Amino acid sequence: MAKKKLDPARCSEMVSDRDSRWPTYLQCRRKPWKDGKCKQHHAGERAKRAAKRRAEWAIKDANIDFNSEIECIGWHVLGCVEGGRFLDAFKIRKMAEDAIRKRDEAIAKAKGE
Ligand SMILES: [Zn+2]
Repeated sequence: MAKKKLDPARCSEMVSDRDSRWPTYLQCRRKPWKDGKCKQHHAGERAKRAAKRRAEWAIKDANIDFNSEIECIGWHVLGCVEGGRFLDAFKIRKMAEDAIRKRDEAIAKAKGE
């Protein structure tokens, strides 16, 4: 297939028309933003968006882990109270502090701090 000449006034990315069974590739309609590509198709911007998505997932994961650890700690508290093992409360407090630190470290890492 012969390569069509690209319009230099537009982003040089070839995009497919995904709705059809036999996709046709057309030049992106947007104006070039940098390096002949629009903001959506520029590799640097794509990498930035991917990094942002990864950070959001990591934060979500940290919060899910934290919530399940807190739930587990809650069951430990209940067990200690029911069994009259009040001294174990110090151990439980340490577990809660560890869970909080772990979550905060994961979020700080995801945000690149
Ligand atoms: Zn484009």
